[in-house]
Formats: sequence, C-alpha cells, structure tokens
Amino acid sequence: MSEALEDIRQICNEIIKRIDRRHVADAGRANEVPQKLWDAWVETGLLGIGLPEEYGGIGGDLSDLVHAIDWQASAGLNLQSAIPNFMSRIPVVKYGTDEQRKSILPATATGESRFSFAITEADAGSNTFKIRTSAIKQDDGTYKLSGSKYYITGFLESEWCLVVARTTPYDPENRTEGISVFLVRPNSPGISASPMDIGIHKAEKQYSILFEDVVLPADSLLGPDGEGLKVMFDCLNPERLIVGATNIGSADYVLKKASEYASTRAPFDVPIGSYQAVQHPLAAAKASTEAARCYLYKTAEAFDRGEKVGIEASMTKYLASTAVSQATNASANVYGGSFADMETDIIGFFLQAKLSELGPVNNNIVLSQIAQKMLGLPRGY
Ligand SMILES: Cc1cc2nc3c(=O)[nH]c(=O)nc-3n(C[C@H](O)[C@H](O)[C@H](O)COP(=O)(O)OP(=O)(O)OC[C@H]3O[C@@H](n4cnc5c(N)ncnc54)[C@H](O)[C@@H]3O)c2cc1C
Repeated sequence: MSEALEDIRQICNEIIKRIDRRHVADAGRANEVPQKLWDAWVETGLLGIGLPEEYGGIGGDLSDLVHAIDWQASAGLNLQSAIPNFMSRIPVVKYGTDEQRKSILPATATGESRFSFAITEADAGSNTFKIRTSAIKQDDGTYKLSGSKYYITGFLESEWCLVVARTTPYDPENRTEGISVFLVRPNSPGISASPMDIGIHKAEKQYSILFEDVVLPADSLLGPDGEGLKVMFDCLNPERLIVGATNIGSADYVLKKASEYASTRAPFDVPIGSYQAVQHPLAAAKASTEAARCYLYKTAEAFDRGEKVGIEASMTKYLASTAVSQATNASANVYGGSFADMETDIIGFFLQAKLSELGPVNNNIVLSQIAQKMLGLPRGY
C-alpha cells in the first residue's frame, strides 16, 4: 500500500472511531445529509480527494477515493451525499475552462458547494439518448433550456447541477450526437423542483424538475457543444466505481453485523450461525464481495492510468450491486422477523441494495453491454 493510501486509511479509521453508524442511519431515515460525517470529511480533507491541489483539493486519484469510500462504508459510514461532488468534478477538471475550474471547484472540497447530476427523464428512462430536454443556442450565445428531469438527487441542496440536454434533436441514425452538458444553478429563474416521495433510506432528497425557458449564459456549457457524450461518461464511469465502492463496503458491513448476530442468536440452544443453511449464504456473499472489490480496485487503477474503462466500470457496478444484494438478502434471513425492526438497521441496506441493481444504470443494460462488447453477441434493443 502506498504512503498516501496509508494516510487515507488512518484518517478513515479516526473518523470511524469518532462517528457512530447510528448518526448515518438516522440521517438516512430523515433523508438528510449526515452532517457530522460530512463535516469530518471536510475537516480531514477527504472531501478533496481526487481534486488537484491547485483547485483546493488534496490530490490523489480515483483509486484513493474508492479505497476511502470502501473503508468508511465497511464501517457503516456511507457518505452518499458526497458522490455527486466526487463524480462531477472529474469532467469539470478535464473539460472545464480555467474560469469554470477556478470558480466552481474549490468550494466543492470545503463542503460549501454541492453538485447534483441530471440526466434521467420520465419518458426516456434507461434510453438516455432519447432525452428531450433541449438547450437551444440563441443569437447572443446564451442557451435556452426547456424540458424536465426526475429522480434528481439533492438538486435543491446543490449549488451546481450538471444537466445533460440535447442541443440538436434526437436522430435515430446518429443517436449519440447532439448531446451537451451544462453547469446550471438550481435557483435560476425558470426552474421549478418538487421533492419526490421515496420509500428508501437515503441521506438526501430526490426531485422532479421542470425547466421552462431557462436562460443559460454561454459559459454554462461544459466541453464542446454537441459532444457531451464523452463529458457525460467521464462522470458516469467514475460514478459506477464510486457507487460500487459504497456497495462493496456496505456488503461487508452487513455481513459483519449479521455474523455477530448469528453467533449469539440461539432459538434451539445452539447459535444459528453454526447451521450451514445460515453460514453458506453469508460465506457466498463474502466471496462475491471480495471478488467485486478486487475488480473495483483493478478498474480504478486502469482509469487512473488513463485507460478507457467503459465496460469495466459497468461490470464493477454490476458485481458490486450483486454482491451487496446477496449480502443483504443473506443478512435479512439471519435476522428473521427482526429484519423488519428498524433497530436492527438491516432493512435500509436491503432496500438500498435493491436500488443498486436498478441504478445508476440497470443491471439488464449492463449484462447486454457485456454480451455485446465482450462476447460479440448482437444488440437486441
Ligand atoms: C433514489 C434514486 C436516485 C436517483 N438519482 C438520480 C440522479 O441523481 N440523477 C439522474 O439523472 N438519475 C437518477 N436516478 C434515476 C436512475 O438512474 C434511473 O431510475 C435508472 O437509470 C433506470 O431508469 P428507469 O427508472 O427509467 O427504468 P426504465 O428504463 O423504465 O427500466 C425499467 C426496467 O426495465 C428493464 N429494462 C429497461 N431497458 C432494458 C433493456 N434495454 N434490456 C433489458 N431490460 C431493460 C430493467 O429491468 C429496468 O430496471 C435515480 C433513481 C432513484 C430511484
């Protein structure tokens, strides 16, 4: 392990000693940011991992970041509210103008500014190329943004939202062209947002959003007009690794919890954890978790070397969500009826694991990508 990673691990361990899992669980139930954990990431500089020092970060790369997230999540300390900051900074560093980088990035490391990311639309769903939100260039160089998005995490709590829009209409023959990415202020005139009623413990709120002729200054555009696909995937590929790290760490956390419970719970006078029917699902989930973790770190290192990791990032997301679903399912069985008791703190992980199969990209789409790109099978959708 590098010296930098040793330091990060030490910082993580200090935070783990200081902050109780209960704080994060309570924030999740209230759909609020776990403020003490957020503050600890700010104070220790962890919120600046992966951001170059010249923009206020502590440097490091995606590998450092996923290690930190995995270690914290393995102790039950998920900082999901920080994910949009981590993922959205990457394309701003890569494609932003000097002015955009200097004015936007430093506050994201000090915790004063949060990002959100908006691509999903009700009609397009997983077929993101078919989004209808449009940003039409005006004679004075500004853009007029119109359309809608839904399930946008932390939109009203964010200072900046990366909005994916079409600058030319959808053309089935060239579906990847004409997509652009904009840096949008959520409080801009013409934007309205309503909180959605979500039955999942998530430390943030979800919003549906309406854009009605929102005037975007010319310098809102991130990267080249109409070539936003690469900008978008420099955000979405890291997101798949960051979310994967959260799921892998969470899988370990629930397995540890369930194993402790199974070692003492003894309705037939011997611990239930001694029964193979109880042990094996937990052990199988542990094996899946460790395999997903190896693949996560391997993919993060490839990303840091500047390699293309599209399919690998999707596969990491798939492996991590499968591992956390296996882990939470096995753990829920261990708890029996107490699985539904909020005090056992399992049901939130269980619902979150289900969600991890459906988003940020659903696992069916990932399997289709693997089938096409790695096995050479024909595209069926
Ligand atoms: C809590 C939460 C937070 C979110 N946060 C954000 C956010 O911050 N920003 C954002 O932009 N989006 C966000 N999303 C949206 C999320 O990314 C989408 O819900 C997800 O990508 C799936 O899209 P969909 O729900 O429209 O499913 P659909 O596209 O309607 O798919 C439904 C189901 O159909 C099946 N399916 C669809 N297409 C195929 C296919 N080609 N092959 C096989 N099966 C298929 C899959 O089983 C899929 O689960 C969030 C969602 C939730 C629930």
